[in-house]
Amino acid sequence: MLITVCTTYEKIDPVRFIGNYSSGKMGYALALEAAERGADVTLVSGPVSIKLSHPNVKIVDVESAKEMLAACTDAFPCADISIMCAAVADYAPQTVATSKIKREHQEVPTITLVKNPDIAATLGGMKKPGQVIAGFALETDHEATNALEKLHRKNLDLIVLNSLRDKGAGFKTDTNKITILLSDGTSVPYELKTKAEVAADILDKISEKYF
Ligand code: C5P
Repeated sequence: MLITVCTTYEKIDPVRFIGNYSSGKMGYALALEAAERGADVTLVSGPVSIKLSHPNVKIVDVESAKEMLAACTDAFPCADISIMCAAVADYAPQTVATSKIKREHQEVPTITLVKNPDIAATLGGMKKPGQVIAGFALETDHEATNALEKLHRKNLDLIVLNSLRDKGAGFKTDTNKITILLSDGTSVPYELKTKAEVAADILDKISEKYF
């Protein structure tokens, strides 16, 4: 299995970056649950403070979206199941300042951004018969419609939807409330659960549906 996790850091200068609040808890819970079930897991991890040591888990540490994409395209051909759990930064600074940007010496700086690669969509384009890709969608409105649109656009097989409107769902928390949407348009809502229990539900659904 291949799992991406956490945020990415997109460097502005040697001391600053663009990132987001993704804690990595959901992806690490998925990696542990999959490893306990006997899967060989490559966990491509953005910067995170969580520690995981398991004989079945190989952790590939990356920082930027570009590095995450390179690690994923390496690991993907051997993966039966890929779960794209990372909250990849959407944009990166076009250029990285080589020394710290000083506020004393200039006007308010303008940082020009460029779009990051979409890792899930790239892997979706490389997908061969028998490979399953799951994505995540964190939405605030028109949740199911937006999630299904992402599933189709990125050529995923299922998508795990969490809504920021649900208390206890999303970033940083130890709990999550998900709905799994499948490519045939069916959906399964789940109760609020710990991220460990949610990981088990996601893997159960993947094995029930595809293996
Ligand atoms: O488009 P959006 O960011 O909402 O899509 C979320 C899904 O796509 C997640 O599974 C996420 O891991 C993946 N993704 C990605 N690379 C990006 C952006 C999102 O793999 N650059």
